[in-house]
Amino acid sequence: MSDSAKENQNYDVVIVGAGFAGLYMLHRMHQAGRTARVFEAGSGVGGTWYWNRYPGARCDIQSMEYSYSFSEELQQDWEWPEKYSAQPDIEKYANHVADRFNLRSDIQFDTRVSEASFDDDDSSWKIQTDQGDVVTAQFFIMATGCLSSTNMPEIEGMDNYTGDTYHTGQWPKDDVDFTGKNVAIIGTGSSAIQSTPVIAQQAESLTVYQRTPSYSLPSANHPSDPEYVADVKANYKEFREANQKMPAGTGAEWLKDMNEPMMTYSPEEQQEIMESMWTKGGFTFVRSFPDITLDYAANEIAADFVRDKIRGTVEDADTAELLCPEIVIGCKRMVIDSGYYESFNEKHVHLIDLRDNPIEGIEETGIRTSDGLREYDAIVYATGFDAMTGSILKVDIKGRENKSLRDEWVAGPRTYLGLNSVDFPNMFTITGPGSPSVLTNMMVSIEQHVDWISDCIAYMDEKEFATIEATQDAQDEWVDHVNSVADKTLFTDPNCNSWYLGANVEGKTRVFMPLPGYPAYKEKCEEVVANGYEGFNLA
Ligand code: FAD
Ligand code: NAP
Repeated sequence: MSDSAKENQNYDVVIVGAGFAGLYMLHRMHQAGRTARVFEAGSGVGGTWYWNRYPGARCDIQSMEYSYSFSEELQQDWEWPEKYSAQPDIEKYANHVADRFNLRSDIQFDTRVSEASFDDDDSSWKIQTDQGDVVTAQFFIMATGCLSSTNMPEIEGMDNYTGDTYHTGQWPKDDVDFTGKNVAIIGTGSSAIQSTPVIAQQAESLTVYQRTPSYSLPSANHPSDPEYVADVKANYKEFREANQKMPAGTGAEWLKDMNEPMMTYSPEEQQEIMESMWTKGGFTFVRSFPDITLDYAANEIAADFVRDKIRGTVEDADTAELLCPEIVIGCKRMVIDSGYYESFNEKHVHLIDLRDNPIEGIEETGIRTSDGLREYDAIVYATGFDAMTGSILKVDIKGRENKSLRDEWVAGPRTYLGLNSVDFPNMFTITGPGSPSVLTNMMVSIEQHVDWISDCIAYMDEKEFATIEATQDAQDEWVDHVNSVADKTLFTDPNCNSWYLGANVEGKTRVFMPLPGYPAYKEKCEEVVANGYEGFNLA
């Protein structure tokens, strides 16, 4: 760990966060010979993969894609043990990257940025941390992650609970042993669905508290296939380029399986196609037909297919029915699992459905729902995140004329390209709201943003510009554009309370925050540059 930066230091760039975004940003700044400081709240690198060390944590993008492409040597050297990487392997990779590219000496760990303010007079940012650092920088870059601010529900009496309490997004570093314990898990999103089968293996009993059932697809994970890996490595550049053309920056391999809209096939053909995609595992199923996430009729047929799979897996018919989701398939982030539904065939795994039997409170020994108190040794909150804006707005950010970002975004985030906001010059958000971010393989979006920001800083240097800032018109048009693209999809279905919409956090304005469609977005970013940073004021 490096020394503290308390001594009023000035940097070219201050970066907040040492996940994959912060690490690559720092690397690009090193390459450009700029002074940079990273502040990271955790004690290690990896961001998501540092914090989310819950049992079963795993990537749902295959390993050959969920990795940096910026270094040919790195992507050739690194060996992933499985098709979908487990958290320890991804954390190991992040540490390898930090060492390989000599990044650690410029990262200050265990330090949370608390405030940042723009000084109109000398066009610089003043950044303060919870450790007493006060530093200045020309550029202030938020690499704080879209899913890094945990959402802990406020349930009456929860502070009185005397057993062990965990949140999947802040899992302890020391091994947690559930052997012989009666455990409850609240939530049925990706984190709960991944951890359920693994906790069930250890615990005496496991009770899953479900408020909204999820659609989960089998991962069909397996050890890496050496032949496939060699193939990808022999053509890694082309492999990456093909994924850049995909709507979510991933899955170019599915292209060859991509079919016509669902209704152009007979019902028998539809089932056959979905069955074959289901067997391949992971997100391939959602790509069975291009209109699954666009057309209600196609969506319902796909949803029925998954519901039938659940009924075919879960032996107890009542439990199976409770696990069958009713919402539009794909309006929430799809979940990829390894044995989730099968867990409910174990005698010691129970499901409590909260729709008819809501949580009334948490007491000293357990959880009380309307039908009574159940006692537990441990409660796991798999209750998700204040997504996309949570970590940004936790920092008290003041722009021009002391304008507060919290006030500016009170009715939802407002950005141009998800990169910058009016009145916050020289502040960039990596995978910020208004960019494809969480609707893509995040490694693709992170690299695209870091490259764009790095090139922009180089351009400003060359042309001797001190500040860059979105224009009001460009930002307003961009916000409208994001809304209109989202409104053409089923993501904004009124019955779907996803974190994409901020609907999982009480009091948060319901606005769709990411932008669907990576290739068109990337093209727009390139166009903006080609037109001399169109939509930005450079001064
Ligand atoms: P993060 O990894 O979130 O890193 C941000 C860092 O900023 C954190 O370490 C945090 O401590 C730090 N930070 C935040 N605020 C402050 C502050 N004020 N001061 C100091 N430090 C601060 N994406 C995929 O594409 N595929 C997947 O399969 C996938 N799986 C996921 C599984 C889980 C459990 C979660 C939670 C997310 C997953 N994601 C996945 C999304 C994942 O967040 C991204 O893939 C990627 O890791 C984000 O990297 P990042 O550097 O942008 O942010
Ligand atoms: P999530 O998807 O937001 O799920 C949170 C769960 O907690 C939901 O089931 C929610 O129910 C429930 N919940 C929240 N508050 C509750 C309350 N007060 N009472 C009862 N239930 C409550 O969060 P997550 O599972 O951590 O996943 C977040 C995102 O991280 C994912 O969508 C994905 O992008 C990423 N992730 C990916 C993977 C992976 O496979 N690679 C794994 C984990 C996470 P409602 O639905 O009713 O709100």
